[in-house]
Amino acid sequence: MHPAVFVFFSLLVTSIVLVAVLAVAWTSFGRPRHALTWAAGYGTAGIEWLLYLTVVMGWVGFYPARPIILTLGTISATLIMVGFRQRAGLAPRALAIWAVAAAIAAVCIAGSLLAPGGPIDRGLFPIYLAATQIAGASTLVRLGWRATLTERSAFVMMLVFAAFYVGVGALAFVQGSNPSPQAVAAYQSLLLLGTPAIYSSFGLFSVFLLAADLAEQMRRLAILDPLTSIMNRRGLTQAVEAAIANTRRNGHPLSLVVADLDRFKHINDNFGHAAGDRALQRFAAYLESTIRKGDIVSRIGGEEFALLLVNTPACTAMDVAERLRGGLATLDSGTDGVRLSASFGVTSLRPDDIGLGDLFDRADAALYRSKLDGRNRVTLAGEPFSAPWPGEAAGHQGAQLPQGQRP
Ligand code: GH3
Ligand code: MG
Ligand code: MG
Repeated sequence: MHPAVFVFFSLLVTSIVLVAVLAVAWTSFGRPRHALTWAAGYGTAGIEWLLYLTVVMGWVGFYPARPIILTLGTISATLIMVGFRQRAGLAPRALAIWAVAAAIAAVCIAGSLLAPGGPIDRGLFPIYLAATQIAGASTLVRLGWRATLTERSAFVMMLVFAAFYVGVGALAFVQGSNPSPQAVAAYQSLLLLGTPAIYSSFGLFSVFLLAADLAEQMRRLAILDPLTSIMNRRGLTQAVEAAIANTRRNGHPLSLVVADLDRFKHINDNFGHAAGDRALQRFAAYLESTIRKGDIVSRIGGEEFALLLVNTPACTAMDVAERLRGGLATLDSGTDGVRLSASFGVTSLRPDDIGLGDLFDRADAALYRSKLDGRNRVTLAGEPFSAPWPGEAAGHQGAQLPQGQRP
């Protein structure tokens, strides 16, 4: 039996397995559209391998099957590339992409009919394959340094494979219109050696990317608050550890602002829980819109929020909190007749702080002071070792900013 039979048979089996795995991934990983597109791509390739198999078995002539093989190959490569674009959330550009694919397939088919064995017949399709791989790979690194390890490895792999197919295509063009039988054999051996390895690696990485995306989605869900879509306390805790380490290394200041909506229970009781939820969402969006890149806003409890301000000393954090407090007077709460105000506590990282707990304790104590003093105000945490609780001298509380309107 011709050795190519084994190659195409294993490619066919790989395709069937990939289609099945991708279909399962589609149903169990939240139905991402690109899983289905990839399944269609590998399914189309499977039909292509089946046709090749019938050719190498001698059941169908190579040149009668060639136009169909080229068409299937182009569709499969294009679908896989489209899947990468869908995964990256890029514009579909379906018309342009399929017009280019149809034109390439038409030129390949014309080449195979008019000059069988010539450079267009043998060289253009591998080059198109390389182009789709480069286009697919480019979607993986759109996030630059934020690309995950899986995305980066897939990117490198796809570029290496693209280089292989550019080499194969270039070889066909170098060999010209009348290649010697040895030249054709060298070209075919190269393809038969490279294709199964590349094809199965591609399939493996497609599945791996789907699984890694799911893991990333789960990780993100675990640190996000479902109501407001900002980070929850767990997310903040993770981020704070990194920020504290960074601050210690660079000696930059780090501040924490905690905010608690005033008399929030009153909103729930008088306007309903939905109005309360809306107010929380508006407040979260308001906080998020005011912070700088690198800062973190999170919902740490029912109507309690925290802002982690990197590279910010206490005095600037006080200004930020005061600006936030003042701006609330005109914030639309999402419900007529509902006005929001909040009380704030502010502190900065001190040399003897061990972790987030110390920052939180001080900021909370300052917040509590703001509540006691009538709400709708900002309080800076007291000096180290002071006890900012009722009965303490007001001087312990550091600067207290002028209050706005009513609590
Ligand atoms: P204070 O000014 O002292 O902070 O008074 P408060 O009413 O804001 O504080 P309190 O702790 O008495 O009540 C907080 C309320 O927040 C009670 C709780 O039902 C409400 N709450 C907590 N989480 C949510 C939520 O997700 N949605 C809504 N609508 N309400 C919530
Ligand atoms: Mg409150
Ligand atoms: Mg509260």
